[in-house]
Amino acid sequence: MTRSASMLQAWQQGLRRLIPGQTPGARAYRAFDLVLARRINLSPSFARLVFTGADVALMHTLAPDQRVKLLFPAPDGSLPTLPHDLHWKTAHSALPAEQRPPMRTYTIRALRRDALEVDVDFVLHGVNGPASAWATHAQEGDRLVMVAPNLAHAGDPGGYEWKPPQDTRHVLLIGDETALPAIAGILEALAEQQPELAVEAFIEVPQEADCLPLHHSANTRLHWLPRELLRCEHGHAMQHAVRELASLPLESAFYAWVAGESATVLEIRRYLIKQRGLQRERLMTMGYWRLGESCD
Ligand SMILES: Cc1cc2nc3c(=O)[nH]c(=O)nc-3n(C[C@H](O)[C@H](O)[C@H](O)COP(=O)(O)OP(=O)(O)OC[C@H]3O[C@@H](n4cnc5c(N)ncnc54)[C@H](O)[C@@H]3O)c2cc1C
Repeated sequence: MTRSASMLQAWQQGLRRLIPGQTPGARAYRAFDLVLARRINLSPSFARLVFTGADVALMHTLAPDQRVKLLFPAPDGSLPTLPHDLHWKTAHSALPAEQRPPMRTYTIRALRRDALEVDVDFVLHGVNGPASAWATHAQEGDRLVMVAPNLAHAGDPGGYEWKPPQDTRHVLLIGDETALPAIAGILEALAEQQPELAVEAFIEVPQEADCLPLHHSANTRLHWLPRELLRCEHGHAMQHAVRELASLPLESAFYAWVAGESATVLEIRRYLIKQRGLQRERLMTMGYWRLGESCD
């Protein structure tokens, strides 16, 4: 067989492995034009915004902490449509500065392709940033753009960090309010798929009323850390939890997932590795935002 014939055969075999709806060469991520369908005020600090759009049927999510980029209306109120034939980053950077929409990272809380709906849980931390300001005032019919995994892409688009090793028996989850959507999703997934795992979760939130009901397995110990009640500054309760309250053994079948304010997460990472001897591959830490800085 000639080289080109064997390449054609390999390509055809690859095509047969594609699942319906996948297209060879389709980009891993694409822009989705969304409209706010419903607003659910979950608690003083959280709003669940349910978005819809004709293309949501083509959106993909691979893990409970799947991250997406949200593009909010520009300072002049416009929200340009990003052309789907260009890479979204190229299309975004090519826009004149005054039309370039502010962009922030969020988590897909739920995707219901059949209903053409995708949920994002927003922390309402004030009107000091474009994302929180937009979410605070958002009403049905308001528009934004979401850059999310493309169902038509045949490979793994990435954009998620929840990757516990196969042998994991103990899971430690630590996060602040920005990580609550991901932790809620992880707890639901574990309850459904691996209810036998021992799980300990610590979630720091602004107020007691933000301690939302979460679905989890019987083997989960869930600890809420409301700052107002504990009279502590941002991040302090998470740091106290990892040092004084977490009780799972840090042995080889252990996996920790930690996300929240960057300096706090870095501190927890240092502690777990340097002082508790946790192996790096057993720990996933992510800075979700920076105190006093915009995350654009
Ligand atoms: C992978 C990933 C997933 C994320 N998922 C979510 C999610 O599902 N829901 C969610 O709400 N956030 C999520 N975040 C965090 C979110 O991207 C940041 O909070 C972001 O800074 C919000 O943008 P903004 O425009 O409101 O504020 P910015 O313009 O970025 O910041 C303005 C000011 O607000 C402060 N600030 C930012 N966030 C907070 C906060 N939460 N509390 C108090 N002060 C704050 C900043 O320090 C700064 O001083 C995620 C981040 C990452 C990296």
